[in-house]
Amino acid sequence: MAVERITNTAAKDEPEEQELEQTLRPKDFKNYVGQERLKKNLKLAISAAKKRGEPIDHILLYGPPGLGKTTMATVIANEMGAQIRVTSGPAIERAGDLASLLTNLQDGDILFIDEIHRLHRVVEEVLYAAMEDFKLDIMLGKGPSARSLRLDLPKFSIIGATTRTGALAAPLRDRFGMIHRLEFYTPEEISRIINRSAKILDVPINKTASDILAKRARLTPRIANRLLKRVRDYADINGDGIIDESIAAQALALLEIDDLGLDPADRGLLEAIIVHHNGGPVGVETLAALTAEERTTIEDFYEPYLMQIGLLERTPRGRKVTPRAWQHLGKKPSKSQPTLL
Ligand code: ADP
Repeated sequence: MAVERITNTAAKDEPEEQELEQTLRPKDFKNYVGQERLKKNLKLAISAAKKRGEPIDHILLYGPPGLGKTTMATVIANEMGAQIRVTSGPAIERAGDLASLLTNLQDGDILFIDEIHRLHRVVEEVLYAAMEDFKLDIMLGKGPSARSLRLDLPKFSIIGATTRTGALAAPLRDRFGMIHRLEFYTPEEISRIINRSAKILDVPINKTASDILAKRARLTPRIANRLLKRVRDYADINGDGIIDESIAAQALALLEIDDLGLDPADRGLLEAIIVHHNGGPVGVETLAALTAEERTTIEDFYEPYLMQIGLLERTPRGRKVTPRAWQHLGKKPSKSQPTLL
């Protein structure tokens, strides 16, 4: 059975999805729901930079996919009145690609680099030198006649986004004046995001229904918006287009999203630990093999939410499900397994 994984935040490449995100993306702090501490810090930094007439410090945003890192970068650019260029780590293949990106910037521009932890090592080195003193060293020619040329760069700001700060080389991480983590949202904030999106998309939804969807959206705006869209499709076909609690519940049942927001793949992962390893601990590589998922997908996407809601723990010896996970899946630990201390 082909179940569409609407809860997989990693996949945002389809044009339809990109268009939806573009339409729904808040443009200023006022419309950016939640992340209050981050907003407070950024507002201060923006006011200070504007007062000094300087570009904002380089900023690193990290956290699981779909929490609003790209959105925040565009909000910062708008609030600074700056132009933003968007690229991603894997898209910059050679040092020369980075050089052409940087030399085409103007004073005050922001360069947003998504998945900055995936920059190639040589590119990374050129980048952190450029971030430090706005100079670019390039080599001309090869062999004995090679010489290096130092170019002045405009005063730009880098906003980097990553799901994992640990994967960033220390010298690069050190060049960021601000490093901020995005937190999962509360169900109330997600409900506000759903209502805002419903207004923009002109979808009638009642408060109970938006609260139901909010509890099943993995505390993640991207999934909330995706759920809203799917449930709207369901309401258009099976009802009169209005999303009420009954339509919301029916659509969620069809999508096999349970009351904790888990889809069949999440449950499959927890079950793999329970069935094959009596609840764990189990190494992430073994888990990847058991579920046929990439290790990075497990680490960046599944685990943060499962840990946030207390179903999974990371221990030094591997991943372990919690008593709550056993209970949620309606299973009991077997006594026959020896307990390792
Ligand atoms: P990330 O870069 O962290 O993967 P995005 O910034 O692309 O996440 O956010 C995904 C979608 O979620 C955006 O299109 C936007 O519509 C919505 N979104 C994210 N954060 C917020 C927020 N704080 N308030 C409202 N909508 C948000």
